Amino acid sequence: MNKQNIAKESTKLVANWKALHRTFIRLEDGAARATLVKYMEQILFGLHDFLQEHVGITEEISLKALSERYKNTKISENPERKLADVITNLIRGIAPNAVNVASPYFVGHMTSAIPFFMVHLKTIVAALNQNVVKLETSKVVSIIEKQILAKVHRLIFDNSESFYNKHVQNTETTLGCFVEGGTTANLTALWVARNSLLAPRDGFGGVEKEGISAAFREYGIERAVILVSRMGHYSLRKAAGILGIGSRNIIAIDVDEKHRTDMTMLEKTISEINKDSKTGIISVVGIAGSTETGSVDPLSNIAELCAENGIHFHVDAAWGGPILMSAAYRHLLNGIKYADSVTIDGHKQFYMPMSCGMVYFKNPEIMNTVSYHAKYVNRPGSVDLGIKSLAGSREANSLILDSALKIMGTKGYALLIDHGIETAKKFAAEIIKRPFFQLVTPPELNILTYRICPSRFRTELAANIDANRKNQINKTLNAINRTVQQIQRETGNSFVSRTTLNPRNIPEEETVVLRCVVMNPMTDIKILNEILDEQEKIYKSRFKPDA
Ligand SMILES: *Cc1c(COP(=O)(O)O)cnc(C)c1O
Repeated sequence: MNKQNIAKESTKLVANWKALHRTFIRLEDGAARATLVKYMEQILFGLHDFLQEHVGITEEISLKALSERYKNTKISENPERKLADVITNLIRGIAPNAVNVASPYFVGHMTSAIPFFMVHLKTIVAALNQNVVKLETSKVVSIIEKQILAKVHRLIFDNSESFYNKHVQNTETTLGCFVEGGTTANLTALWVARNSLLAPRDGFGGVEKEGISAAFREYGIERAVILVSRMGHYSLRKAAGILGIGSRNIIAIDVDEKHRTDMTMLEKTISEINKDSKTGIISVVGIAGSTETGSVDPLSNIAELCAENGIHFHVDAAWGGPILMSAAYRHLLNGIKYADSVTIDGHKQFYMPMSCGMVYFKNPEIMNTVSYHAKYVNRPGSVDLGIKSLAGSREANSLILDSALKIMGTKGYALLIDHGIETAKKFAAEIIKRPFFQLVTPPELNILTYRICPSRFRTELAANIDANRKNQINKTLNAINRTVQQIQRETGNSFVSRTTLNPRNIPEEETVVLRCVVMNPMTDIKILNEILDEQEKIYKSRFKPDA
């Protein structure tokens, strides 16, 4: 055997029992241990520095070119790479073509930088690998989960000390549960609401058991609906599909000029539905921080209306929930404590790593409408959290939230939240100052929308022009904003998102807007100004002044 052959032999990787054993039990030696520690360090400290320095938001490459690289569909029998190479490739090869959501120039979505310690906490959760579906695979973690659920419940509903003493570790009652995200939180809330409306009664086992058509027959209705404003998140439609009432039965209520549920329209819709006794209302949903504009519905008014009509009131606070920690801004969510259920996302303004959602219920017994038991897993009255959750096996996200709240305190979170709202306000003022831009929705929370609207269009729009010309200008502006946003995104230095607003639901009024979400504490007005400058520059290089 010559030298070259030997070298080749020794680098060929084969699956073998000894190596496999090592990956489960114990690292072979000190050197291997040192290597793993080095990688961990690289992940913790190197990844974001590397991205910050080398790629900004993301590397400039087309999706088509990227997908060309990933077309092999065979799983190899033997190992393809050593651990070291895999990690190096993830950091040097994959990460630059992913999205550096931690960049302060990334202000387009509800995903952002997370505090450093979150990576540590996530690592511990992975290392412990508890399964919170049941007590036998989680023990104290299930108990801590009940505690943290009670803490956040208290933040929302602010019940008495004795209420929380009674329920915090009560195995018969449930204040809420951890789920995968806002989507499954909304689904869980509406699942509970559906089962409460079409509940078991004399000789009828309830919708959960008997199915939707039997339930409709029993209750003498032909359809069931959920009411939410036009700004409602599309997860509500998914929920309606899954719950068997049909996604078209999410009834969209018009919004006012601030993109909040129009109360007159909501009242009118409810009273019309009540006249026709063939329709049941599962829930009215109020939004606390809409995904597109950050607007907050008049929660107290909706609560009152729901109470009068005996309707389940759900609040989708996936985004806005954590505002409750800010002494300066929590009043914006006034009325949330009258909700029957509330959705909050952990991976949004609790700054947790992907993914963590939560749903909370005012009535600690209402989740009994969705309880299930499996003989081998859990018995009635046990602490097993899987009894009343959509998910089966799941990770111990409660440990992350609990630890984060201990590290930050509500005041720490308030600093982040206040910074976001106040920076968004400064940004709005800056947009108003610049004749090239037009503020479309001012920030109620930390989200605002605006558009490029060169001054000659603005002058014309302000003048008394006919509807035709107005629509024509609107169309032109829509095209301009689409193009500029796309170029900015593809260039990869900064990112704002784009959406289409249409509060009055009139096709000609569809307005393409740029959407900015300020949640990264490193994002400041200077950076936001740079982003505006870049947009102005892109426009000028791309469009002739008279375009
Ligand atoms: C983000 C969001 C959702 C969906 O949450 P996911 O975690 O993405 O499933 C639902 N409603 C609102 C208002 C949201 O902002």
